[in-house]
Amino acid sequence: MGRTLLLKNADILVTMDDERREIQNGGLFAEDGMLTQVGPTEELPKTADKVIDATGQIVLPGFVNTHHHLNQTLTRNLPAAQNNNLFPWLQAHYRIWAKTHPEASRNSALVGLAELVLSGCTTVFDHSYLFQSGNKVDFQIEAARDLGVRFHASRGSMSLGESKGGLPPDDCVEEEDDILRDSIRVIDRYHDASPGSMTRIVVAPCSPFSVSEDLLRESARLARDKGVMLHTHLCETLDEERYTLERFGKRPVEWMEGLDWTGPDVWFAHAIHVDDEEIRLFAGTGCGAAHCPCSNMRLASGIAPVKKYMAAGVKVGLGVDGSASNDGSNMLGEVRQAMLLARLQLGLMPPEGPRKHALLPPSHPLRAGEWMTAREALELATRGGAAVLGRDDIGSLETGKCADFFTLDLNTLQFAGGLHDPVAAVVFCCPQGASTTVVNGKVVVDDGQIVTMEMGKVVTDHNRMSLELAAGH
Ligand SMILES: [Zn+2]
Repeated sequence: MGRTLLLKNADILVTMDDERREIQNGGLFAEDGMLTQVGPTEELPKTADKVIDATGQIVLPGFVNTHHHLNQTLTRNLPAAQNNNLFPWLQAHYRIWAKTHPEASRNSALVGLAELVLSGCTTVFDHSYLFQSGNKVDFQIEAARDLGVRFHASRGSMSLGESKGGLPPDDCVEEEDDILRDSIRVIDRYHDASPGSMTRIVVAPCSPFSVSEDLLRESARLARDKGVMLHTHLCETLDEERYTLERFGKRPVEWMEGLDWTGPDVWFAHAIHVDDEEIRLFAGTGCGAAHCPCSNMRLASGIAPVKKYMAAGVKVGLGVDGSASNDGSNMLGEVRQAMLLARLQLGLMPPEGPRKHALLPPSHPLRAGEWMTAREALELATRGGAAVLGRDDIGSLETGKCADFFTLDLNTLQFAGGLHDPVAAVVFCCPQGASTTVVNGKVVVDDGQIVTMEMGKVVTDHNRMSLELAAGH
């Protein structure tokens, strides 16, 4: 028998399996990072190489973060970008991000990933698209391996500078041949498509306003040739919609569809400004959406129609985005915001049908099914995210899946008085830090602390580099 792990005595274990079982006095048993048993504690083996007693705790499947920019942890809360929407916000950041050097790249990955595992996240997709100043995807992949996080890295790109009608300055974009060559190198070197994979690569040009038509087409061709997923920002703002309408005479979704950017291997970040026909297109072609509520509120971008997506059968996951537009990497916080924002949307949007003329209050019985529940929000962060990333081995706790999970102590100040329904308390009550986080059957967070790395120096170095980069060093 290989490396074994037993978790026992959890007050509740949330499986997120097809039956959505929530097991009282639950536990699980894993061998070499894969679950071999999930069920009541009394039915599990009595010992293992590593035993976790989860008495007084709730266990959930590890969250899946479907959209992030780890390097932006260096530019959180930048004064020049505190109060603006996407385009000016990007313009305030591009040149600083382009100075992300290897040490800053590694360190920013460690900061963002550490925050994520402390908030229950075990699989992270990062969308990196600036590779000046010696930065390479390799530094992030190495950081994720050192910390012990399941990581989907992107070899993203920008090729359309200002002089060619794009948004980023010319000195922040790359030559397209260089982008494609390095994308092939990174895929060949790191992409692992096998079940239980800890590292996958995604081809991810940045957006329709920073990447040429040619590169979008070539990126799709390369991804299909290599069997990797495709990702970009889409329908994030009305400025973007105006850009593609003016420049190409098409709405963003129609523009991307014409460049072979639809299919089950594609997912879009934000996907806010879509009409019903575009929602049907996503559902019919299998495109996924990464919903990033905090970022969308922070930049006043809008509210993605998540409940409509769910009703139409579109795959939806959550992303903390940022971290310059969040400005944190807390997945539990994002789950809570997803539920709350869907409810605000419900209060703002008139219902469809004959009552279109009246704005029904959210309490109206006609709208009961439109409420996003706490369990639905948790589902987005687990099963939903796994589906968006094209993985069937994560997102739920059941035999044959990865041993990725986290626990929360139920006897805390945050949950006090809210234990009538402990599963919903995870979303309704204020986020708290994970007590234990396990990735691939290995403990990464124990007793609320990262145990795979000393974080003190990481934070000190990060603050130094962050100030240096903003000051122009
Ligand atoms: Zn983004």
